[in-house]
Amino acid sequence: MPAAPALSPSSCPHCQQPLGALAQRLKQTHCGSATCRQRADQEVLQGRWQQVVALATEHAVQQRLGPTSTPPAVVWLDPAPRQLTPVTDALREQLAQAWRQAWAEDRRRGYRGADTAQALPAAATALCAQCGGTCCVQGALHHAFVDAETLERWLLEHPGQTSEDAIAAYLAALPEQHLDGGCAFQTATGCHLPREQRADICNRYVCPALDELGDTLRATPDRAALVFTRQRRRFERAAVLHQGRATPLNHLPQPDELQPPGPPPQAR
Ligand code: SF4
Ligand code: SF4
Repeated sequence: MPAAPALSPSSCPHCQQPLGALAQRLKQTHCGSATCRQRADQEVLQGRWQQVVALATEHAVQQRLGPTSTPPAVVWLDPAPRQLTPVTDALREQLAQAWRQAWAEDRRRGYRGADTAQALPAAATALCAQCGGTCCVQGALHHAFVDAETLERWLLEHPGQTSEDAIAAYLAALPEQHLDGGCAFQTATGCHLPREQRADICNRYVCPALDELGDTLRATPDRAALVFTRQRRRFERAAVLHQGRATPLNHLPQPDELQPPGPPPQAR
C-alpha cells in the first residue's frame, strides 16, 4: 500500500499556536513569531550540520580510514586568531610592568592538575595544533600567565640571578610577531615559549573538547575524529585527526550550501 502523504501540522510545533490556512498550505514549520522562526531555523541548521558530518565521515572513510573503521568521533572547536602583528615596544613594556607587579605582590596562580603531555594520550594533544590555541587568547588578558610562581621557577634554575634577570629572559623569549588578539607568545606555529618556561596553566589546561577526545582515545586508541573549527553557520577548517595526524578535509560544502532536510525549500 503506498504511504499516506505527511499531514501538514495544524499548529506551530514550537509554541502550539494554531497555524493559519495559508501557513498550513505552505507547510510552514513555525507560526511566524520571531522566536519560533528562530527555533525552526536552528532545527534546519542542525540538520544541515548533520549532513556535513555525514559527508565528512564518507570522505574520511574513503580517503584515510577504510570501510572497517569505527565511525569517527566529532569535535567542534572555536576559531583561534590567525593574523600576525608585531610585538611592539609598548606591549613589551606592558608585560614587563605586569610581571614586575606580580613579583612584587607575590601573585601565584597555583593552577592544579597534571601536565597534558603526561595526562593525555599523545594522539589527543595533536588537537591543539589543529586548533591553533583558542585558549591562548586568555594569555593576552593575563600577561602570558607569567606570575611570581613562573619567575621563581626560572630563578631556581638560574642561581645568583635576580627577578629583573628573569623578566629580561622572558622579554628576550618574545617572538617578533604574534597573533593579533592572542597571547604575546602565540605565533602561527604555536607557543614561542619553550614548554619548561611556560606557566603551569599553559601546560595543564584542558578545554572540554580536548578532555572529551582524551577520554575517547583512552577507551579506543585507534579511533579517528572529525575536527571542525566552527563559527556560527560556517566552518573555517575541517580535518580528520587519526593517530596524532591531521589531514584536511577539503571540498566539503558549508551547511548553508546544502538543501534543508525534509520538504523542498519552496514548501517552507
Ligand atoms: S586546549 Fe582546547 S582550546 Fe586550547 S589549544 Fe588545545 S584544543 Fe584549543
Ligand atoms: S604562554 Fe604560550 S601556551 Fe601560554 S597562553 Fe601564551 S601562547 Fe598560550
